[in-house]
Amino acid sequence: MLKKILIANRGEIACRIIRTAKTLGVKTVAVYSDADAKALHVKQADEAVHIGPSPAPESYLRGDKIIAAAKATGAEGIHPGYGFLSENADFADAVTKAGLKFIGPSASAMRALGGKAAAKEIAIKAGVPVVPGYQGEKQDAKSLAAEAKKIGYPVMIKAVAGGGGRGMRLVEKEADLAELLASAQREAEGAFGNPLVLIEKVVVKPRHIEVQVFGDSRGNVVHLFERDCTLQRRNQKVVEEAPAPGMSAELREKMCQAAVKLAKHVGYEGAGTVEFLVEGGSLGADAKWYFIEMNTRLQVEHPVTEEITGLDLVEWQLRVASGEPLPLPQDKIKMSGHAIEVRLCAEDPAKGFLPSVGRINFVFMPQGLRVETGVTDGSEVSPFYDSMVAKLISCGATRGDAIAQLRKGLSESALLGLETNALFLDRLLSDSGVASGNMDTGLIGREGASLTERPRNAAHIAEGAYWLLSDRVKPGQRPSRWRTFGPWDARDSFQLGDPRVSRLRLDVNSTPIDVVVRGGEFDLEVEYEGARIGATDVLPNLPVMNAGLTAVDLVRDLTHYRVSFPTYDPSTVDDGEAGDSIRAPINGKVAKLFVTEGEAVEKGARIAVVEAMKMEHVLHAARAGTIAKIAAKEGQQVTQGTVIAALAAEADHAKA
Ligand code: ADP
Ligand code: ADP
Ligand code: MG
Repeated sequence: MLKKILIANRGEIACRIIRTAKTLGVKTVAVYSDADAKALHVKQADEAVHIGPSPAPESYLRGDKIIAAAKATGAEGIHPGYGFLSENADFADAVTKAGLKFIGPSASAMRALGGKAAAKEIAIKAGVPVVPGYQGEKQDAKSLAAEAKKIGYPVMIKAVAGGGGRGMRLVEKEADLAELLASAQREAEGAFGNPLVLIEKVVVKPRHIEVQVFGDSRGNVVHLFERDCTLQRRNQKVVEEAPAPGMSAELREKMCQAAVKLAKHVGYEGAGTVEFLVEGGSLGADAKWYFIEMNTRLQVEHPVTEEITGLDLVEWQLRVASGEPLPLPQDKIKMSGHAIEVRLCAEDPAKGFLPSVGRINFVFMPQGLRVETGVTDGSEVSPFYDSMVAKLISCGATRGDAIAQLRKGLSESALLGLETNALFLDRLLSDSGVASGNMDTGLIGREGASLTERPRNAAHIAEGAYWLLSDRVKPGQRPSRWRTFGPWDARDSFQLGDPRVSRLRLDVNSTPIDVVVRGGEFDLEVEYEGARIGATDVLPNLPVMNAGLTAVDLVRDLTHYRVSFPTYDPSTVDDGEAGDSIRAPINGKVAKLFVTEGEAVEKGARIAVVEAMKMEHVLHAARAGTIAKIAAKEGQQVTQGTVIAALAAEADHAKA
């Protein structure tokens, strides 16, 4: 067994790998960027090495620094986790050349299967059905347009090096191809350093079914059954489960055998996932199914497979990398029960899933569920990496049990300090299509606002105001005297005798509200939109906490409320003469500017792209006008609220 490994990753997956390494007596070395100096994975590892500034290209993607850190600490192997360098064959080569073990497949297997185009060609050779399309070398717009026409619209453009749903565009009609192709290529170049794309037919009403495979250095390959990752948003998985609901024994057998065949074809070693789409929503024996890609690494959703098989996939990876044979032959690998995982992300579904960046003051995680997380009380969610902060995994005798457990767990979890998708996940799990297993990859898109709308519960808001004004916020920092709303602090026409009543302006999630406040320090009551909350109405053991001196955070019914005294927020103030400003919605990088000064734009015109947490956020003009000013450069890092461009004031535009 390897004695010491370096983990070239961060967040929950780094913590996950460290956990298994510990149980096997394998020492661990973490690496970290500036932003992660205090991160959980750094604390959990036996040693940690700083590898550079916060942006991933300067740290977690610096293969040279990572290899140097492994050499310096005497690690024998490198586990790449997922994302970052995990599917980078050049990195795997460099690791091997440095005399270290890459914990994953050989570089040659990665080259053969890691790219979507090459993998499809191999699948065709191995007799595995693939989505019809063009995965050749011609990459100019004209040739690709001709190929798209041959395939027939709608078509899917995909980055050959893509992952996490990035660099992918659905093209409905020929007229849209040029623009979507350019944006897919740009995203692919930015995210993967490789602009190559393929084009394929769009599979109708697909179920995403993938098979976990494992190979060892002696040529053995087994499968660990399938997972269903049909619930996706923008081609990115949101909920994953195993086994696939409604899977027929015949289809399971065919897909699992195809996956093993493909892996054997390239002498695959380690953990891998073969992804398929099944057309039409159901998984009967005659369903049409197609290979789409292989992920040559451990997958985000590997825990659901671990839950139904009772196996530890990271342990298998470490054993295989140490030269041991697969721990079990195919006929000894059994599954039982049903497991589901949700990806808890720091993002605001009500704002188009805008990533939510900031400090998590307090983390409540449910008892009785498997939780994989890389955050703890006080962790910072930075704009540099993925927005996924935890995975909650349940396992039950039946799918219904697993869903019920997971919903209970979600209702008991809270991250105080930023927005999460918890309510969205809960609504999704209670959706009738999901509950009955009648789903396809378009489900989330179709349900739209009913899954993402933000509730505004007057009682919860009044409760937040109550905590803000009372002195009893727990757990939290020492309450500050000036915040109290006692009679001795009154500066209005307070008199002894009658209960004092006053109106107060507060903010809830940055929106101003007016509350009515009665009484004082010992008999405080807050009223908001008819809901009255006093000392006897609040349950002190529900999650609530001070956020600095002027705000409290609380989570009620899976919704995060931040109630604060009104603050001056420069990003909401208009800057007079210049007219409407177009501002960065989040800390990130200006990836693209579409307009120049003096240009006239229509309402809705694309102004710029800001990239954060690996997602592109397109900024549009709120009205027609003339671009008076461009205030940022392409490539510039900007903070939330920074002006990127400004439209000339309405009157000026009318004159022009
Ligand atoms: P899985 O296929 O394991 O479910 P995803 O496709 O969701 O994984 O990707 C796993 C994580 O790695 C996500 O955070 C995703 O954004 C990121 N990711 C995937 N591929 C790449 C890549 N080539 N480069 C950088 N990050 C990637
Ligand atoms: P990634 O590398 O980003 O994971 P995949 O090729 O695995 O890319 O595709 C991700 C998801 O995009 C699929 O699970 C599916 O929902 C959707 N998708 C991909 N190809 C097609 C297709 N040809 N037709 C319909 N949906 C597709
Ligand atoms: Mg995929």
